[in-house]
Amino acid sequence: MNNILGNLNDKQREAVMTTEGPLLILAGAGSGKTRVLTHRIAYLIKEKKVSPSNILAITFTNKAAEEMKTRVEDLLGYIGDLWVSTFHSACVRILRRDIDKIGYDRNFVIFDTTDQKALIQECLKELNLSEKQYPVKTVLNAISSAKDKMVTPEEYIYVFGNEYRSKKISEIYKLYQKKLKKNNALDFDDIIIKTIELFKESPEVLDFYQRKFKYIMVDEYQDTNTPQYHFVNMLAQKYRNLCVVGDDDQSIYGWRGADVKNILNFEKDYPDAKVIKLEQNYRSTKTILEAANYVIDNNIRRKKKTLWTNNEQGEKIILCELDNEREEAEFVIQEIISLKERENRSFRDFAILYRTNAQSRAFEEALMRVRIPYKVVGALRFYDRKEIKDIIAYLRILVNPYDDISFKRIINVPKRGIGAATIEALEATALEKDTSLFFAIDDAKVSQRAKNSLLEFKEFILELIDKKDTMTVSEVINYILEETGYVEELEKEESEQAEGRIENLKEFLNAAYEFEESSEDKSLEAFLAGITLVSDIDLAGEIGESVVLMTLHSAKGLEFPVVFMVGMEEGVFPSFKSFTDEYELEEERRLCYVGITRSKEKLYMTYARRRNLYGKSQYSSYSRFISEIPERFLVRYHELSKPREEYRSVSSYVERKTYEKAQYNLGDKVEHKIWGIGTVVKVEGEEITVAFPNVGIKKLDLKFAPIKAI
Ligand code: ATP
Ligand code: MG
Repeated sequence: MNNILGNLNDKQREAVMTTEGPLLILAGAGSGKTRVLTHRIAYLIKEKKVSPSNILAITFTNKAAEEMKTRVEDLLGYIGDLWVSTFHSACVRILRRDIDKIGYDRNFVIFDTTDQKALIQECLKELNLSEKQYPVKTVLNAISSAKDKMVTPEEYIYVFGNEYRSKKISEIYKLYQKKLKKNNALDFDDIIIKTIELFKESPEVLDFYQRKFKYIMVDEYQDTNTPQYHFVNMLAQKYRNLCVVGDDDQSIYGWRGADVKNILNFEKDYPDAKVIKLEQNYRSTKTILEAANYVIDNNIRRKKKTLWTNNEQGEKIILCELDNEREEAEFVIQEIISLKERENRSFRDFAILYRTNAQSRAFEEALMRVRIPYKVVGALRFYDRKEIKDIIAYLRILVNPYDDISFKRIINVPKRGIGAATIEALEATALEKDTSLFFAIDDAKVSQRAKNSLLEFKEFILELIDKKDTMTVSEVINYILEETGYVEELEKEESEQAEGRIENLKEFLNAAYEFEESSEDKSLEAFLAGITLVSDIDLAGEIGESVVLMTLHSAKGLEFPVVFMVGMEEGVFPSFKSFTDEYELEEERRLCYVGITRSKEKLYMTYARRRNLYGKSQYSSYSRFISEIPERFLVRYHELSKPREEYRSVSSYVERKTYEKAQYNLGDKVEHKIWGIGTVVKVEGEEITVAFPNVGIKKLDLKFAPIKAI
């Protein structure tokens, strides 16, 4: 019992022990909300003898669910049939049992984006609408935001207007739902909506779950959307033992349909609700917490909260201005190395937080250069992202038209009406003529339409092959992105995800500009070789010992001893888009509050004077959020009393940490981390060429390649 109720302050204990009736815990960051939920589950089971199967706990991510389960297990030694899951997993479980009651088969499938797109295309065809006017992704986004608000196809025009276009979208929406059903499929949004529908249409099912889940708890309630709200509230109607926790200051998913009113109106929904405020923060130093309090206080639309901590005053927040994003990344990595050594920290103590995923590139490259293990949370590593792989595939074909893998990757990206059958025919021809797919185009036995598309593609590539030596790498990339319509297609989507992809592509262009500035050999071949080098280094294996990179959004609920908030510039954070919209600006500020409060001991804020955006150097000033922190909590990096020499330079670290630069001779065996054992077939200064049985001949740079002599 001690371990369940001990280590809690009075308020927290009160929240844990208030097991009956509606309970709202509205409290600031790091005040132990998640901890209270965990202990409350353990308390219910151990003290109140509630069966684990009568408890439902909802977390925001799967990772948070795993963590909560582990913590409960630590407290109790077992968890039994306890449901700790996200909204989606809970609903899928419920639907698997009973979805037949609303006319679906219980082994329904969940459609991913690719499936959804194919279905929308079918709908467009059937309705005689052109994809040009109704781009697939645009339609999908419209449908998804309707579902976020629980707007049905029939209601669509009443909510989104009854102009011609809206009417058409509602028709597509209707047909799309019909087709989903015919396929016995649900899309991601449907998972929760169909569960609600099931509850409505089948009172006995609702009754079953209302009885089962006598105790319901929801973490991060401030970021629930309308369907999620209905789901928990329907379940809680019978016993009303609903405990929700959250922080209106951390509501950061408004752009995805989350509605902070869900938490702010809890007392209206449950007039008898008990409200507990937790005011002591256990996570951060006084400096960090007070800085966060000052920033968030600039938001007008908020419930005032006071948050204090008994923790030490701690160090000042370190501000550092850098010349550009490359220097920013170098600086951060240098600090990580230096702190690791001086303060005996491990890599997992560090988190680098940024506003948009595209910003990860500079940091990933800097980390890879010095071989520090890192993990990108909530997104793929930069060079693994689809749009980056696509553009690289184009570039590879220019350099090597025999590269069939790259050919297949992009022959129909963007869409050129080239389907699987055409590719198969092309493959047969290539096999017969013993050549690559690219060179088999002329002889391919395919329909005239497909042939024309293929020939057009070939013309385009040949033209570029011809031009590439007189164009810079960035010009080539720009040309491809424009001429193929790749970016245009993304722009039409008008979705958050597509915007992210465009940002990544622009960031890729920045990589090209950097290359053009710094490399002696400015050829496309050299550019690709450099990329292969960085992107092939796989440091992800050493999980648990990695620096963590992620967006501020993904960092919600987490904590780290040392946090770097990077790209703290006007136009980056807060984003340009939010300048003209005070609601959006307040959401950005909440995001800043989330970022600051992730940090336990040390917080850095960095900004670049100049940042490459769209290939142009843009000058910007530091973020207004920095100005909102009183000077007394801040120190400029160059004003630190520690002599600079104490900070080891990155290069000396590299020298010490790189795989021993053994002398290699022809015929030596080496072991590569990913490719396994190979034989050295050529030695040229810092570069060796190795033949690997599975992947063939590879050129390796001794400075970077993860190899060792065996
Ligand atoms: P967020 O708003 O960021 O989600 P939170 O309110 O959920 O934060 P927790 O993550 O539960 O806060 O707690 C923050 C940190 O404080 C955790 O490391 C937790 O273990 C610690 N903590 C919370 N309460 C106490 C306590 N009473 N004694 C010691 N440590 C505590
Ligand atoms: Mg939490």
